[in-house]
Amino acid sequence: MSKKKIVILGAGLAGLSAAWHLQKKKIECFVFEKDATVGGLCRSKKIKGFIFDCDGHLLHFRNKYTLQLVRRLLKGNLASHVRSAWINSFGIFSRYPFQANLCFLPMPIAKECLFEFLKASQFQQGKAPVGFLKWINASFGKGISRHFMVPYNEKFWTVPLDEMTSAWTDNFIPQPKPSEVIEGFFAENKHRFGYNACFWYPRHAGIGQLPRAFEQQLCNVSKNCRINAIDLQKRELNVVGKEKVKFDTLISTMPLPELAKIIQPLPGDILGMFRKLRWNSIFNLNLGVEGACQEGRHWVYFPHKETVFFRAGFFHNFSRNIVPCGKSSIYTEVAYSKDRPINRNKIVTMIINDLKACGILGEENKVNVLDINDIKYGYPIYDKYYSQATEAIRGFLLGNNVIVCGRYGSWKYMSMEDAILDGKQAADKIKR
Ligand SMILES: Cc1cc2nc3c(=O)[nH]c(=O)nc-3n(C[C@H](O)[C@H](O)[C@H](O)COP(=O)(O)OP(=O)(O)OC[C@H]3O[C@@H](n4cnc5c(N)ncnc54)[C@H](O)[C@@H]3O)c2cc1C
Repeated sequence: MSKKKIVILGAGLAGLSAAWHLQKKKIECFVFEKDATVGGLCRSKKIKGFIFDCDGHLLHFRNKYTLQLVRRLLKGNLASHVRSAWINSFGIFSRYPFQANLCFLPMPIAKECLFEFLKASQFQQGKAPVGFLKWINASFGKGISRHFMVPYNEKFWTVPLDEMTSAWTDNFIPQPKPSEVIEGFFAENKHRFGYNACFWYPRHAGIGQLPRAFEQQLCNVSKNCRINAIDLQKRELNVVGKEKVKFDTLISTMPLPELAKIIQPLPGDILGMFRKLRWNSIFNLNLGVEGACQEGRHWVYFPHKETVFFRAGFFHNFSRNIVPCGKSSIYTEVAYSKDRPINRNKIVTMIINDLKACGILGEENKVNVLDINDIKYGYPIYDKYYSQATEAIRGFLLGNNVIVCGRYGSWKYMSMEDAILDGKQAADKIKR
């Protein structure tokens, strides 16, 4: 047993993974979670026979260790799939990624995209530019930028792209070679591009089975325990409605802007760094509908402004066991922020109208169930202050025995796999 008291704030995948890796090393730790269930963003709920995740949540593995760990935890309740992702623009569906499948587009657009791509790749030399907008133009040329990359990313990030950096792009945006773009101009590209070319998903009961499996192997996970004050000097937490809790080391997975509201003392310069953090939010509407819908397709991107959502996906194509027989279920995602707010009174109607307009919802697809998840912290925005602010915050907190981890603790564009690995890394920092 460790003599030091380790407290973990949050039982999403990062907090659960930190606890699991500590307890595996026989180091005692205590997890406090504000919600009634574990999982954070990685959770599922059942409504009238439909199992909905909180937006689309598919597992992608870059790392053998995580794949093996998740397989062991889910005990066979895991199936692999080859991505079937599409883009809806110019009134047609073209294969994702756009830049490697130009053959689907109307010929004048496909030609413009190819010529401009080849021109850009001819002049590309040395280090890629740091600004996101410049990076897009230099990597893909003006055609692909104009017809997909810029409108899609503006819609997704909600902020002007010249305010962002390209620090996050390597892991998330496929960059095909010129020969591959040319191949995709003539015929559908068979090469599997990007981190999400394959994915894994539970056969039964939705993605929430993963955090549940972690929880079943853990001790000291307290739910319905919201932390609303952290005293760094006394090394003490306030748990709403309960006794105060002492800690020697705190692992925090809660979003940094929320942490800033409850932690004290916080020097003025560090508070200033917290205030520089920016993010977008995601309004997720899930729908349970009658009849068949987009059979075989996993998800579709909508780059243009005419459609309110930037992506729609199809739970029933991840697993037939999570929808009632003869029915289908759809998730839609709308990005918003202070820079681009949404109208909450109208957004559901707008989404349903646009699903009909683009042919996803047909006459036969009567809507049975609606489920809303308004995700305040969606994606951290990588702007010119990002590195300076996150490094200063992390350094200050570490100096006060607070280790941050997870997507919103570390404040990074992380997948579920990354959150599990980040939890492990936090646990590795603690010695017995
Ligand atoms: C819209 C969207 C779609 C995504 N899709 C995918 C995908 O398809 N594939 C993929 O791999 N990843 C996906 N992700 C990323 C994935 O959801 C995250 O990387 C991962 O779930 C983050 O886990 P976490 O533990 O770091 O954070 P969280 O899941 O946010 O967990 C933090 C926990 O802390 C708790 N908490 C917060 N404040 C307090 C407090 N004061 N007191 C006590 N508890 C508190 C919260 O309730 C929560 O349970 C997606 C993310 C978003 C936003």
